[in-house]
Amino acid sequence: MNHLVKKAIFKADEIRMKLGLNMFQPVNVFTACEKIGLTVRFVDINMEGIYVTSRNSSFPTILISNLRPFPRRYFTCAHELGHHVFGHGGKIDILTDNVDMMANREEDELLVDAFAGAFLMPVAGILAEFVKRNWTIKNATPLQFITISSVFGVGYQTLISHCRLNRIISDPHAQSLLNYKPNDILFKIFGGPVKNSFFKIIDDCAENPTIDLETSNYIFLPNDLKVEGNNLKQCQCTGAGIAYIAQRSGIVRVATKDGDEGSFIRIQNHGYIGLSENRHLENENE
Ligand SMILES: [Zn+2]
Repeated sequence: MNHLVKKAIFKADEIRMKLGLNMFQPVNVFTACEKIGLTVRFVDINMEGIYVTSRNSSFPTILISNLRPFPRRYFTCAHELGHHVFGHGGKIDILTDNVDMMANREEDELLVDAFAGAFLMPVAGILAEFVKRNWTIKNATPLQFITISSVFGVGYQTLISHCRLNRIISDPHAQSLLNYKPNDILFKIFGGPVKNSFFKIIDDCAENPTIDLETSNYIFLPNDLKVEGNNLKQCQCTGAGIAYIAQRSGIVRVATKDGDEGSFIRIQNHGYIGLSENRHLENENE
């Protein structure tokens, strides 16, 4: 393990401890930023993200582009949080799909990418989620990986790349998983063509207090959960749970029928512009 990765992991563990999280728990990155005192704002600028701070480090702010795919914004937020916790000063992260640019990134960028990975997807936490479900990571299926990516709030490919990087899955296994696109998995779950959108599978073992979604996304929930309100519209019963589509922004409580355990699903409008803490509103003034 190189020194950069070690430094990133130590820092991620330190921030998790400050937030009262152990090494296994999934973290909601937007909630984490709020607790740390960082303002997160969604904007419609074509880039990844920006970290802004004044010279005396007051009023630190993260700007995230709402033009990027939903799970990508989640990772970018953790990346910008990395610039904050390492004291890097203001940073502008332009689009990083270009392979040549990725290969020539500065050390600070590699460090905060490693931080984002360790912060959002602690290896001990990933392994624990597989064990909890009696699944063996070494031969896990695309459906199982997409379920675990839903737990950690990251994209399917992001989780697979992270597991490959940390040597908890082999290169051939990662490649065979990456041959499936999330939309192929969605098609398979629905048993036929379906409008392509980001989706999350929340099963009985998931313990996320807050789950983020965007309107038009799907979410699969266990059959025995009670879903409040009409922000989520039921579409179909499937082998992965009951499929809902997020049709309106807002906060939805889902709980077991006896009301004992529950989660809040925060739905933001597609293309939402404004503060992260208001992301469940139609717009900031509502
Ligand atoms: Zn950066």
